[in-house]
Amino acid sequence: MKDTIRLYDTDPYGRTFESSILRARVPEDTLSPDKNSLLMEVILESTLFFPEEGGQTPDKGTLNGCPVTDVQIQKGVITHWVKVPADRAGEFYEGAPVSGCIDWEERFSNMQNHSGEHIISGLLHKTYGYNNIGFRLSQNTVTLDFDGQPEADLIYGIEAAANEVVWQNLPILAEYPSPEALSAMEYRSKIELEKDVRIVTIPGVDACACCAPHVKRTGEIGMIRIMKIQRFHGGTRLTIVCGRRALQLTRTLQGALEEVSRLTSRPQEAIGEGVRLIQEENAALRFRIGELEREIRALKLEQLSGSQKNVFLAEKDMSPAAQRELVNSLCEKTGGMCGVFVGSDDAGYKFIIGGGSMDARKGSAALREAFGARGGGKREMVQGAVTAAWKDIEACLRDVCGS
Ligand SMILES: [Zn+2]
Repeated sequence: MKDTIRLYDTDPYGRTFESSILRARVPEDTLSPDKNSLLMEVILESTLFFPEEGGQTPDKGTLNGCPVTDVQIQKGVITHWVKVPADRAGEFYEGAPVSGCIDWEERFSNMQNHSGEHIISGLLHKTYGYNNIGFRLSQNTVTLDFDGQPEADLIYGIEAAANEVVWQNLPILAEYPSPEALSAMEYRSKIELEKDVRIVTIPGVDACACCAPHVKRTGEIGMIRIMKIQRFHGGTRLTIVCGRRALQLTRTLQGALEEVSRLTSRPQEAIGEGVRLIQEENAALRFRIGELEREIRALKLEQLSGSQKNVFLAEKDMSPAAQRELVNSLCEKTGGMCGVFVGSDDAGYKFIIGGGSMDARKGSAALREAFGARGGGKREMVQGAVTAAWKDIEACLRDVCGS
């Protein structure tokens, strides 16, 4: 089959197109998610749909009004996967005319982000000699990987220079140079290419082999922001955001900032100080709770009559550390089996039982048998969870202890 004519190459701003079908079929191994539609493979004479290629996800849109769910290219032939209502499958046959429409908003956003990536990668290469070795562009993320680990300051210097390139509103040119012209050119390329090499050039900034649609001038990118710098496989991964996505992201982040600003009663610039203060207050409160829990423990121990041997207490709320300490203190004082249950009849209890002179596992076994409790442990101490009424739990354990 002959190569598909790539309309996006010469007309990256085209949104609709007319073409004719070279092949349309329903692959045998393809099951459509619903019975009322078919997932058809459609190959056209020409298309505006950019396929998944070079790390970029494919265009979305419609053919004859039917949604295009995927677009792939193989040996120059572009295949569209189209979700066609079963009663309209007859419209898709060899030689039939077809009207296509791409999701322009997403495509333009991809063009802004892809062109932005070329500027960052081009400047990193031109200024410091780093090579772009990986690129992903999807609706949600744009990442680029390069083969070095420069300091963040240097990377933000590249970000500043990249935005200067945006403001200079330079042209972005895409062309297929002759083999002679190509061999005389210096350009970036991730793989060794032979024929029909498409070179995307931003004069004075970058030249790179690339198959994707780009904006005509750098000004259309709007803004380039590096959002994340990560060490990655011995190199660096940058997450960038350009154009409309940068606007949307700053709106989202501003919303989050405003919320924290309101919650901490600080201006946006000072929310760090506000959060720090809350953390300090929190630490002081935790310390105070620890002190109070210790006091409560001491009071509870004092209240026990000298003759009480096996003690089981239910508490509404207590930290696990305090719960454990209380169990230890009770066992030490009484010498019997003692347990502390934290929670409520409805929500269930987290328990710790100390064996004292007995085997604590007998306690957890009895709770498992009677109420389906979970957990276990050693002879000296068991812990777990149980949902039952406190009076029944206590009666069950008293049975085990025989008192
Ligand atoms: Zn590219």
